[in-house]
Amino acid sequence: MKIAVVGTGYVGLVSGACFAEWGHIVVCVDKDPPKIAGLRQGRMPIYEPHLDEMVERNCASGRLDFTCNLAKALKEAAIVFIAVNVPPHGDRGEPDLSCLYRTASDLAPLIADNTVVVVRSTAPVGTGDMVQKIIAATRKPCTFSVASNPEFLCEGVAVKNALTPDRVVVGVDDERAYKRLLELYADPMDLQDIPVVVTARRTAELIKYAANAFLATKITFINELADLCERLGSDVEELALGMGLDKRIGTTFLTAGPGFGGSCFPGDTLALLRTAQDHGVPLRVIEETVAANDARKRRMALRVVEALGGNIDGLTIAILGLTCKPDTDDMREAPSIPLIEALQRFGGHIRAYDPMGVENAAKILDDVVFCDDPYDCARNADAAVVVTEWAIIRDLDLVQIKANMRQPILVDLRNAFRRDAAVQLGFRISTIGNSASTKGDVRSMARQRNRSLGTAKIIPIAMREKDNGIII
Ligand code: NAD
Repeated sequence: MKIAVVGTGYVGLVSGACFAEWGHIVVCVDKDPPKIAGLRQGRMPIYEPHLDEMVERNCASGRLDFTCNLAKALKEAAIVFIAVNVPPHGDRGEPDLSCLYRTASDLAPLIADNTVVVVRSTAPVGTGDMVQKIIAATRKPCTFSVASNPEFLCEGVAVKNALTPDRVVVGVDDERAYKRLLELYADPMDLQDIPVVVTARRTAELIKYAANAFLATKITFINELADLCERLGSDVEELALGMGLDKRIGTTFLTAGPGFGGSCFPGDTLALLRTAQDHGVPLRVIEETVAANDARKRRMALRVVEALGGNIDGLTIAILGLTCKPDTDDMREAPSIPLIEALQRFGGHIRAYDPMGVENAAKILDDVVFCDDPYDCARNADAAVVVTEWAIIRDLDLVQIKANMRQPILVDLRNAFRRDAAVQLGFRISTIGNSASTKGDVRSMARQRNRSLGTAKIIPIAMREKDNGIII
């Protein structure tokens, strides 16, 4: 089948390459000429593990191509995916649909009869109806269909997610769209036993927001319990494991940290609230999730100030990790941004290291010394703050980090390091969701064992808490 994907960003590029991998002929189109020129020369515009290999393989086979020419991309396409950006704007975080609607009106006169136009971007309930209306202004409604097929990929593991999603959601209101999308998904999903949920277009649109709002709420839940753990002398990682092993709860998205960010959760939660408010249906849990997360992100800077004795004026702070999560170069709504800006307002000088995020971070953050090397980043720092838990940051040699620092103070907002090991090396360490009073050796043995359980094949363990620690 011939497929066009309009918008060649994180979603469009990964989806397009994945459709080509399944054997379809795909043309990805973007309005950004340098991006397309780079892709045609094999340069990826984003960092996403294994994406370059998949793109290269499919370009070489002639199944994947890139262009700025919309008419060329749409020629004979049986399905046109719209994967343009829908950024939040305004105080209430309304999604800015102008790009998406412009795309719909641009493609209306160019699509062939019988084309199925699919909204892949995350867009509020009713967007498909509007796209239908825009295209219908140019051509007869019986000559095209509009569907919703939201993307659930997770940056950092996007290629794996696209090839083997947990499920595919297809929102269709007519038979043509239903048959065409099943033709696309039935085989690859059947082969891997992946469910395809077929529903009405408006329900598919809502599923995407509901899923992201739920995940954001789960993160906020564990973050708030992390604060309670600190007061109680309990340990949030053990709490999350003990809770998450209950299959009804699950262990993922129960990792406490500095608050959620990224290009999806903040915007999508606000957009869902906006939809709910417009329809007079309060979503109180999500309202609280948004408020609690905003407050948490603001509070993170105070942790650093506190760790440094209450005044950071003139002090140097090394930020380890800038992106919203590991294995991506995406800086959109990253918790590092409000953290760094607040530390600068308190008078701190910022040095920062990130394996992939520096180019994007430099467009957002001023007066930051970006370093190519984490050890150099720690040089003469009064505190090092772990903000993103890249593997390279988890694996840092703390002895060398300490040797380069002016003061051995570590604020670990991702629990990337073991508290007891850092303390043994002479660090003063502040972590998330476990207090300094947490008892030494036995607790650390328990934690080591729990970590080795990972999130996959779980072996049940019985833990009994005693005054002096944990007995396994
Ligand atoms: P992005 O900013 O990385 O990419 C969007 C691309 O669309 C850009 O390259 C831009 O130049 C292009 N574009 C905009 N208008 C265009 C037009 N008229 N013609 C051609 N190209 C045009 O955005 P993204 O992260 O890929 O997100 C796209 C959508 O998918 C958003 O709605 C987002 O919420 C959703 N989404 C994103 C993720 C994610 O993890 N990034 C996951 C799921 C869903």
